[in-house]
Amino acid sequence: MATIDYSNFIYLPASSNNYTVANRPYSNLIDKIIIHVAQGSWSSAVNWFQNSYAGVSAHYTVRSSDGFVGQSVREKDIAWHAGNWPYNQNSIGIEHEGFVDDPKWFTEAMYDSSARLTAYLCNKYLIPIDRDHIIGHVEVPYPNDHYDPGYNWNWYKYMDYVLYYATIV
Ligand SMILES: [Zn+2]
Repeated sequence: MATIDYSNFIYLPASSNNYTVANRPYSNLIDKIIIHVAQGSWSSAVNWFQNSYAGVSAHYTVRSSDGFVGQSVREKDIAWHAGNWPYNQNSIGIEHEGFVDDPKWFTEAMYDSSARLTAYLCNKYLIPIDRDHIIGHVEVPYPNDHYDPGYNWNWYKYMDYVLYYATIV
């Protein structure tokens, strides 16, 4: 199996106040990917996760212009992104630069890079590639009250790309 083909990748650790140390997938099953839109820029999201007062984090953040990926939390640890503790425990959160109401942020480069990342994670943790396991933040139940990635996110394209990359990596 080839290594993941990130064009660019950087590890910018979140503040240790913003996630829970764990030993996944041994301590908690990883069986979901949760897709987010950051309602802000790539750097504002990554910087916010580094702020010890933020109280939120995600594992990965994908940049709009070129698909550049930042990792903020190790996959073994529990990022705080879902607004629902059981979902946090069992998922990996991927943020996407941009705003739900402005589709110009959702570039081909971002879909492509994010789909490669999700495909890699699905293969690694044996997560089924379907919409029960690759979900939007909006699909996380109460007490979550967020609605990203919103109606501009192209799920058909995204799932097509994930399936494609999952079979070639
Ligand atoms: Zn979200």
